[in-house]
Parts: sequence; structure tokens; C-alpha cells
Amino acid sequence: MAHYPFTDRPHLLVLTCTHVLTGSDITLVCHHFSDASWEFVCGGQHTEEDAIVMSVGELCDSDPTLHLLCDLPVGACAMRESRAHAWKRGRIEGEDFYSAAESRMG
Ligand SMILES: [Zn+2]
Repeated sequence: MAHYPFTDRPHLLVLTCTHVLTGSDITLVCHHFSDASWEFVCGGQHTEEDAIVMSVGELCDSDPTLHLLCDLPVGACAMRESRAHAWKRGRIEGEDFYSAAESRMG
């Protein structure tokens, strides 16, 4: 079972978008894919120029609430409507999900 607490893996590279980094009040979606990769993108439309690969440690520095997602299981995603909203967790459609991870779905 893949599980990567961000604090142990500050140099893990993740995909994000320019909108997340500018910190505007946007819907943010976090995916933890079954290939163990992570993605933190907004709910908007993206072109290749919007994509940014950076370390998860740097990303968490820009938004400390992202640490709350470090136990998000493989095959799960989390979403919030804005920085003021709580995270809601769910499964990524079409991705493997392990029932043992159910307890981390909060
Ligand atoms: Zn975006």
C-alpha cells in the first residue's frame, strides 16, 4: 500500500497549476493516482502553460492546509470549494482503490 506522508517526502514532485500557486480563492482538487503520483490542480480549464511540476514541500509552504491531505489513500481525491472550505474526500473514478484505505477517507 503506497502511502507518502508529505513530511517524509518533501522532495516528491507533484503536478500543480499556476492558479493554485497564485492562491486565488479557487476550487482545488487533489488526486492521488494509483501510480503513486499526486496532482494538485484547480477546477478550471488548463493549457500546457498552466502546468507546473514542483516539490510537494514547496507547495505545502504556499498552502499549509495541503498537509491535511498527506494520508489521502491511493485512488482517492479531495476537493474543496475555496480556501475557506473543508476538504471533501472521494474516490477517483477508474483508479484502483484499496478497501483497507477506507478508514482514511475521513
Ligand atoms: Zn488551474
